[in-house]
Amino acid sequence: MRVPLCLFFLIILGSVGFAQNNVADLVLLDLQVLRCNAAMNETDAVAIKGDRIVALGKEQVTKWIDPETTRVIRDSKLVATAGFADSHLHFVGLGQSLQMLDLRDAKSWQEIVAMVKKAAETLPVGTWIEGRGWHQSKWNRKPAKAIEGYPVHETMSAQVPHHPVVLTHSSGHACFANAAAMKLAGITAQSKDPAGGEILKDGAGKPIGVFRENAQRSIRLAQSKSEQRRSVDEKRTIVAEHIRLAGQQCLQHGITSVHDAGSSFAFADLFTDFAKESKLPVRVYMMIRAGANELAARMPDAKRIGVGDGFFTVRSVKISIDGALGPHGAWLLNPYSDLTTSAGLNTFDVDEMAEIAGLCRKYQWQLCVHAIGDRANREVLDTFEAALRDDVASDHRWRIEHAQHLSPRDIPRFGKLGVIPAMQANHCTSDAIFVPMRLGERRSKEGAYVWRSLIDSGAIIPNGTDAPVERVDPRVSLYAAVTRKLTGGELFYPDQCMTRAEGLLSYTLWPAISAFQERKLGSIEIGKKADIVLWDRNLLTCPAEEILDATVRMTVLDGNVVYEAE
Ligand SMILES: [Zn+2]
Repeated sequence: MRVPLCLFFLIILGSVGFAQNNVADLVLLDLQVLRCNAAMNETDAVAIKGDRIVALGKEQVTKWIDPETTRVIRDSKLVATAGFADSHLHFVGLGQSLQMLDLRDAKSWQEIVAMVKKAAETLPVGTWIEGRGWHQSKWNRKPAKAIEGYPVHETMSAQVPHHPVVLTHSSGHACFANAAAMKLAGITAQSKDPAGGEILKDGAGKPIGVFRENAQRSIRLAQSKSEQRRSVDEKRTIVAEHIRLAGQQCLQHGITSVHDAGSSFAFADLFTDFAKESKLPVRVYMMIRAGANELAARMPDAKRIGVGDGFFTVRSVKISIDGALGPHGAWLLNPYSDLTTSAGLNTFDVDEMAEIAGLCRKYQWQLCVHAIGDRANREVLDTFEAALRDDVASDHRWRIEHAQHLSPRDIPRFGKLGVIPAMQANHCTSDAIFVPMRLGERRSKEGAYVWRSLIDSGAIIPNGTDAPVERVDPRVSLYAAVTRKLTGGELFYPDQCMTRAEGLLSYTLWPAISAFQERKLGSIEIGKKADIVLWDRNLLTCPAEEILDATVRMTVLDGNVVYEAE
């Protein structure tokens, strides 16, 4: 790009001026500022220059205001906090889920065809279009042609001929595919029903595009095959769109940093490129999910810290050693109270975990292990303790993701070993309804989501949502953390609540510490990155019930206003 000469001089003069004068770019004035530091200090003004916070407090901040200052926001109704961080989510998965068409509210098949057609207009030919949530009983008019109430693919296939389409039924037990998808899956009139599945056919024996139970597999397989065949450029374009969508959603909710809970090295390479090209909409701290052999091969040179102006970091590994409590997959010390033949599932070899812990020690990586049941948590703590034995004072910051159900004996080990329980408070209130059933009263009381006991034993708890498993909205987890109140109004062992200040720290300073980023992020301090959220109320002092109504008015990331409510 050619810059006109006069403009060039202006830029030079401007930058010299900036260096000499204390001129802020963005100023927040006469508002409440919750600095989110350990002392929970407050102030009334912030000056931002470039990507940094340069002054605090009205007296100092006003000195930085100049006609050159781009924007001064003066609004006593606003309350600033540090940028929020979601410490456990699946970033690309969140983007994918947002791209998937939500068909739950569709009132007719014609409406669904129109939605898919519209989506096809913006996607490269051959890209799969996915949707979910349709249910024929919700439609107020019947499809032009229907078999057993289900739509026949012809209208969709005529309107969307060049994109394979797969739309999952709201039950999850059936899906719809158009002609392009069926062709890729090799479905013809000759195709036979697989065991445990059914390909719905019309009177002439032609598949209508609806697949029940196991018959869905052929369509899913075709989808994953064509995804694998995509060129590197196509994959990049698709992931870039997922990142854009996920980022947009995060910024609307005041989330400026995310901890991505498990992606491949290939994704880490892609994110590195995006970060260098300034294409990451939020800061991403990525955990790598890989087996011991791949880790051993790649760890020596795969660590990246603060690529692209602090937007991308890889320095940790993710393992999952058990399942979830709902489907009886959490690995327990004693059998389930409502399924006495089972103590859950161990999903990752404990010896391989120890091997990976050794690699993490060797290359100074952080280890983050998904553990939900009390047995899983004990195995992880034992492994961590053994791996760290020679150097317990090291600044390892190893984490247990979820840490939901603990034996009372293990609770103090977190604080003692410096192990960080990364817990998503929204899981507590959404699971509470079945926890006493699965674990019985005693285990629930002593060990389920014991935030108070963990914090009192010296641990910090970075909060999050596990999106797209749950919505990325931090208010839900913040509210759950400080109330433990279920939608029906019942309280789930409320003596384990976090205080309001701890709730705020769990979304700001504690995630930064959990990612070795507290020198740059997590609180509002001079010299730290200007990641700041402006809320319409004070999350520390508003009535707890109002937390869910709090609204983000503005999100500032790296000194830039990246979201502003209308
Ligand atoms: Zn997760």
